[in-house]
Amino acid sequence: MLFDCGEGTQRQFLQARAGINRKMRIFISHLHGDHVFGLPGMLHSLSFMGRSRELEIIGPKGIIELVTSVNRVVKLYNRFPIHIREVKPGQSIKDAEYNVRIATAQHGIPCLAYAFEEKPRPGRFNADKAKELSIPEGPLWKRLQSGRLVRVGRRRVAPEEVLGPPRRGVKVTYAVDTRPCTSVIRLAKGSDLLIHDSCFAESAATKAREYGHSTAREAANVAKRSGSRMLALFHISAMYEDASPLLAEAKQVFRRSILPREMENLSVSTQPA
Ligand SMILES: [Zn+2]
Ligand SMILES: [Zn+2]
Repeated sequence: MLFDCGEGTQRQFLQARAGINRKMRIFISHLHGDHVFGLPGMLHSLSFMGRSRELEIIGPKGIIELVTSVNRVVKLYNRFPIHIREVKPGQSIKDAEYNVRIATAQHGIPCLAYAFEEKPRPGRFNADKAKELSIPEGPLWKRLQSGRLVRVGRRRVAPEEVLGPPRRGVKVTYAVDTRPCTSVIRLAKGSDLLIHDSCFAESAATKAREYGHSTAREAANVAKRSGSRMLALFHISAMYEDASPLLAEAKQVFRRSILPREMENLSVSTQPA
């Protein structure tokens, strides 16, 4: 899942070794250049590198026109099917393992915020307990793990006997570009990770308001009010060579704020930090 595709994304994508032929969805927040100019290059390169699997692009109204008009003028070298969906706030993208909910971001032009919500996962399998109940390792264990009853001799074993309580899935909210707003706070409720627009420091709060962005402290407020567990400051203005003052401002409001480095991997868990 790729959220937005600015210029330079394909280069980073290759460097991240994310795999060219995996199941893939690209979510676009809005049609400002810094969020979509990487899309034609990305599609072209994926095809060149041998992608054959369908790719889905999800975005606001206009995303179909963007891709088709580029393709009309500069024939994209496409060897895989592209499925483009225009979506609206309130809708959600459903998958076997997760849902992605969509809400309005406040940015001056139509802009979408996305919340990735993993579905609850089955509880941990207690191997000791299974052995204690003389259930032979193998297909019967698998069956129990998937929540089905098994029969051992004359005895029936219910999955609850060997499984812990179901585990909550991970939730990650992506809200870029946006002013702090209630629709994002509502969407982000209980996120394990909130990735939020943090374009400016407090000293440039007027600019943030004017351009439909947020200050780092405003992002921290959204994290706090939504009950998120971790905040990643994102979309920092290029005018800050050193963004550490923004981090300091955010931390005054929300301690678990971070400033992700380029290409950083973050582990997201459902456990409190
Ligand atoms: Zn924008
Ligand atoms: Zn932007």
